[in-house]
Amino acid sequence: MVNFDWTALQNEAVRHLQALIRLETVNPPGNEALAAEYLADILRDEGIEPVILEGSPGRSNLVARLRSADEAAPLLLMGHTDVVPAEADHWTHPPFAAEIADGYIFGRGAVDMKQMVAMELMVMLLLRRMDVPLRRDVIFMASADEEAGGEWGAGWLVDNHPDLIRAEYALNEGGGFAFEVGGTVFYACQTAEKGYARFALRTRGKPGHASVPHNDNAVIHLAAAIQCLGEQTLPVHVTTTLRTMFETIGETQTPEVRAALQTLLDGGGLDPDSLPIREDLRRTFVAMLHNTATPTMLQSGSRVNVIPSVAEAHVDGRIVPDQTRESFRAELEAVLGDQAEIEFLDYGAPLESGPDSPLFEVIRQVMMETMPGAVLVPYMLTGATDAKHVTRLGTQVYGFSPVLYNPQVEHFGLAHGHDERIAVDSMGFGTHTLFDVTKRFCQSNA
Ligand SMILES: [Zn+2]
Repeated sequence: MVNFDWTALQNEAVRHLQALIRLETVNPPGNEALAAEYLADILRDEGIEPVILEGSPGRSNLVARLRSADEAAPLLLMGHTDVVPAEADHWTHPPFAAEIADGYIFGRGAVDMKQMVAMELMVMLLLRRMDVPLRRDVIFMASADEEAGGEWGAGWLVDNHPDLIRAEYALNEGGGFAFEVGGTVFYACQTAEKGYARFALRTRGKPGHASVPHNDNAVIHLAAAIQCLGEQTLPVHVTTTLRTMFETIGETQTPEVRAALQTLLDGGGLDPDSLPIREDLRRTFVAMLHNTATPTMLQSGSRVNVIPSVAEAHVDGRIVPDQTRESFRAELEAVLGDQAEIEFLDYGAPLESGPDSPLFEVIRQVMMETMPGAVLVPYMLTGATDAKHVTRLGTQVYGFSPVLYNPQVEHFGLAHGHDERIAVDSMGFGTHTLFDVTKRFCQSNA
């Protein structure tokens, strides 16, 4: 057993994160080749030979593998190297300089998700340095294009090189952060992801001259349909992840809070004041319980003096695990009646790996030891990640990107926001935690 100098390793992880932030891999255009080359150099220096695969020019994906002696199915450490754009004017520190201030590393990608890419790189290096005997292969994938859907990244790898990344389990972005309910700190492990089913909401009416109003105006019909959609909450669907999450939280709470959580599970709606948690988290909890339909774009008319015959809204639909486009359509039609036509535009299936798995259990044990008093709960992401691609290979994906709990920092708003940042000591904590989880899950007992 090697005793690592975790302070030195934290510094090393921070250096890799800073280097990655400074490589501008804003998608579009991506240029993830910059990150892939950087990671490849580091891996090669320590005797791990990676493969770089270009989905399209400049859109490089990196895959590296530590081989096991055994047959047990691999663990995939997955990450994406692209980031969303940043409006530099709104940042306290420049978004691609990776400056350290007040104990934080500032930069686009600091929590989504160059930090985890750096941690996963460290896990690969440490397993190698320790020569840990493995019973599962450990695969590291740093892919392109996640922020635009993964067509040239994880999606492309799954379609074109599935054998390189096929794994039984994967660790991904998504969870790993903590939140507090009634004095207890909960660390989230993402075991489910909502799917998306975006649609056009379309109304029709009679065209005409705007100087002579009539009551069959497509624009007015659309406004009514959108209002109707906005006023309704769609039915509750309790998944395994949600039930386990709410019940686990409930066990630590007062009878009143436990009862409020139970009311939520029973479909009784939520009194906004009944849960002692932050407003954003409460809204997230509610979104996890329902399919949602959020209108985001409007399109109608070509001239101000012409009543158009068609009006259209684009609606961002999100569906919970076990729901389908068809069941979602039925819910929407129950609300809208025949007020509007629904045409689905794109679709990504919801996912659920569930909390009953050896990987979830290993994460739970590691967290119990490193964060006594904190409780691991399964969690559902309301957005979508590259998990949607990787699960096509039968992989069970768990979102666990560890970050130290800090009640002062609103972790949710950081990804894609201004002043995206991660605490320096979270890099040490996250690297250590991911290493412990990976080692415990993959090392051979022999
Ligand atoms: Zn991400």
